Amino acid sequence: MIKTGIGQDSHRFDFEDQTKELKLAGVIFDSAPPLQGNSDADVVLHALCNAISGVTGINILGAITDNLCLKHGITDSRIYVQEALKFLKEWRLTHVSCSIECQTPQITPKIPDMKMSLSELLGLETQDIGITATTGEGLTAFGRGEGIQVFCIVTAIQKNFITTPPICHKSQSYL
Ligand SMILES: [Zn+2]
Repeated sequence: MIKTGIGQDSHRFDFEDQTKELKLAGVIFDSAPPLQGNSDADVVLHALCNAISGVTGINILGAITDNLCLKHGITDSRIYVQEALKFLKEWRLTHVSCSIECQTPQITPKIPDMKMSLSELLGLETQDIGITATTGEGLTAFGRGEGIQVFCIVTAIQKNFITTPPICHKSQSYL
């Protein structure tokens, strides 16, 4: 049995904030302003959280993260992802794919670092993590540099799921 979950999130840049850092997939980007939000506003990890919730059916962003952030002062979005992972139970992530839309910063040079960060967070091999980026030809607010939008899809299998080899009949062995 296989499940997929889709997640999306978007945040505006905060052009006034001189102290906060822009974080994407847990990686710091010096070349762009930070994103607005009570947390570190890591829009990649938030989309990932929502995708994991798409598998578990337990929504993390919202009441649970508000409690972690506003009541306990936890602003590191990696903690939110770890919270979402707790509800996977007999399911195991096998693949993650993220699509980022923004005009700035340049994502491509940091993709290896982002994959490594997600690999450590999720316990996946880096070859099972895909990250793409586009400006979308400037057709949206994200492509025009007002913020960042991320879509994320995760694939999960049941831990006891065993793939059986296809039965090969003698008459078909030449196939
Ligand atoms: Zn968010």
